[in-house]
Amino acid sequence: VDTLNSEEIKKDFPVLNQQVNGHDLVWLDNGATTQKPLQVIDKISDYYKTYNSNIHRGAHTLAARATDAYEEAREKVQHFINAASSEEIIFVRGTTEGINLVAQTYGRQYLTPGDEVIVSELDHHANIVPWQRICQEKGCTLKAIPTDKNGDLVLSEFERLITPRTRFVSVGHVNNTFGTINDVKRIIEIAHSHNIPVLIDGAQSIAHTPVDVQQLGTDFFVFSGHKIYGPNGIGVVYGRKDILDKMQPWQGGGNMITDVTIEHTEYNVPPARFEAGTPNVADAIGLGAALDYVRHLGIRNIEAHEHKLTEYAREQLAQIKGLTLIGNPKHRVSVVSFVLDGIAVPETGTLLDKEGIAVRAGHHCAQPALRALGYEMSVRPTFALYNTREDVDKLVIALRKIVGSK
Ligand code: PMP
Repeated sequence: VDTLNSEEIKKDFPVLNQQVNGHDLVWLDNGATTQKPLQVIDKISDYYKTYNSNIHRGAHTLAARATDAYEEAREKVQHFINAASSEEIIFVRGTTEGINLVAQTYGRQYLTPGDEVIVSELDHHANIVPWQRICQEKGCTLKAIPTDKNGDLVLSEFERLITPRTRFVSVGHVNNTFGTINDVKRIIEIAHSHNIPVLIDGAQSIAHTPVDVQQLGTDFFVFSGHKIYGPNGIGVVYGRKDILDKMQPWQGGGNMITDVTIEHTEYNVPPARFEAGTPNVADAIGLGAALDYVRHLGIRNIEAHEHKLTEYAREQLAQIKGLTLIGNPKHRVSVVSFVLDGIAVPETGTLLDKEGIAVRAGHHCAQPALRALGYEMSVRPTFALYNTREDVDKLVIALRKIVGSK
C-alpha cells in the first residue's frame, strides 16, 4: 500500500495549484528542482518578518535568535544524514559550490603533479568540471569509471583504474539522467581499502532514498537544498571531522577567523572556517523546515511511493509507438529518460509544455552519461512525493497526442 496521500500533499505546495497554457500544471521536472511547501515558505517569511539579523557577531536579541535558528538548522541537517556532529556540516550555496569547495581546499592542498582523481561517466558536470580544473592546474590526471549500456557503472573497471597515484574519488550517489543508484557503499569500501578518500554527490539521492553518512563511511557528502523541497541558494558539505580539521580554508573573510593582523590570520575551527562572510541564514532555516517536512512524511514512504510511480511510468511509456526508453539500470529512482522517433527532444519538451506538463528536455548537464549510451539529449520526467498516477496518465495521454499528430 502507498502510505503517501499525494493528492493531500499537493495542497501544501501553492505553486502546483495553477494552470499553465490552459491545463492544470503537472510538475515532472523535480530532478531539476522541487517545489516548496508552505511549511518552508512560511518559515523563511517568518524569519524576514520577525527576526532577520546577522549572526554570531551581534550581541543583541535578534542576533541571538537568528544564530540559534541557523545552528538549529545545522543540527537538523546533521540528524537527517546521521552525521556524528553538527561541526561536520558546512553550509554552502549548493552541490556545485560544495564540490568546488572540496576540490579547491582538499584538492589544492593534497594533489601533486602526476596524481590521479577518479570520477564516473554517470556524473553531473558539477562533479566533473571542478576536478578537471584542479587536475589541469596541478598536473594531475582525471579518470572516469565507465558505464555499461544500461547506465550502470562497471565497478570491476573501477578497481583497475586505481593506481598508487590515485588520491581522490568523487562520484554521484544517484545519476540524474537514468536515475541509476550507484553502489556507493562498495565504491567507498574499495577506495578506502587503498586509503583513498571519497566524496559522494548526493544532489539526486537526498530527496529519494535514506542517506546515512556514517553507515556509508564516506569522507564527504554534498547536496543542494532546492532538490529536497528547500530553498535555492543553500546546500551542504558534510565532511568527516578529522579531515575538516586538517583542511585549509577556502574563501577568506569574516567569520572564518579567530584573529587577524595585517601580516597574519588565525583561522577559525570547522565549520566556521569554511563559511566566510555573512551566511544565507534565511535559506538555511528554510532547509531545516524542508528536512522536517520530509522526515514527517518518512523518506522510506517517499521512496516506495516514487518507486511505484516510476515503474508505472516506464510500463506506460514503453507502450507508446516510437518511444525509446533510455537506460535500464539495475537499481534506479524517480527518473525516466526517453526519446521519440522523428520528434526532436527540445520540440517534445515544448509540446508537453503546451499541455501544461513540465519536464526537462536536453542534456541534463550530464553529457558523458548520455553519450555513453549513444545519445546527445533526452526527455526526462522525474517524480517527487506530490506526484500521482494521474500525473503519469496525463503525460502518457499528451505523448500519445504528440506522436499521433506526426
Ligand atoms: N549533481 C547532480 C547529480 C545534479 O543532478 C545536480 C543538479 N542538476 C548537481 C550536481 C548540481 O546541483 P546545483 O545546481 O544545485 O549546484
